[in-house]
Amino acid sequence: MASDISPSPTRFFVLRKLREGQHDTEFSRTSSNLGPALRCPHCGDNIGLLTWRLPYQGELELYGKDFGDLVEGPCGGVLLTEHCAESFKAEGLTGLSDFEPVEVTRVRRKRRGPKPGPPPTYLFSTPAYGNPALDMERSRILSKTPVKCTWCRYVGPDAIDGLALEEGTWKGEDIFRARGMWGELIVSERFKRFAERHAMSHMALVPIEKYVWDPLGLLHPEQPPHSSTD
Ligand SMILES: [Zn+2]
Repeated sequence: MASDISPSPTRFFVLRKLREGQHDTEFSRTSSNLGPALRCPHCGDNIGLLTWRLPYQGELELYGKDFGDLVEGPCGGVLLTEHCAESFKAEGLTGLSDFEPVEVTRVRRKRRGPKPGPPPTYLFSTPAYGNPALDMERSRILSKTPVKCTWCRYVGPDAIDGLALEEGTWKGEDIFRARGMWGELIVSERFKRFAERHAMSHMALVPIEKYVWDPLGLLHPEQPPHSSTD
């Protein structure tokens, strides 16, 4: 086995769903059995969304040509095809566990095309959360509220202009949500190679340091519409 004494620094990517790509597939749950959200062990605040509980049932919407290997799931989880989940485990990737089958009750094709065949078996899993944490100094997050808790590092962002992980908090997870940014899925370089091999054409991987989220146009505002007359 190769020595890991001086590993090269791992790069991380924010996983973004694309509205195109030939494997664009969406899932919506029809079973409404929900459990409580995670709680921060330090401040007790809720983290993220409510959790989804068995039995897992829902409908697929097929926007692309073919069913995607990885589909955004409800309650912060993901759906992986059984085949993809087997490869994930066989290749030793981490960050997803407790795969549970999802019963697909209906498939709708949202674009013109032949009637889709039966969908692959999908398994639901919730990405890891708890180790990797954002470096709040090096991440460029615009927010009106300061971080109150050093563990969950909750910050309601108004805009994001690049993220960085705090050194030493990442324990090798290949797909995870970071403390400080539950809303984004972050993946490792190893996951990126995995995604490339598995035709995840409906996903974009943005290096976290280049990740920009600016729905209000705060980072690069346009010229003000009225100039001063003074
Ligand atoms: Zn907390």
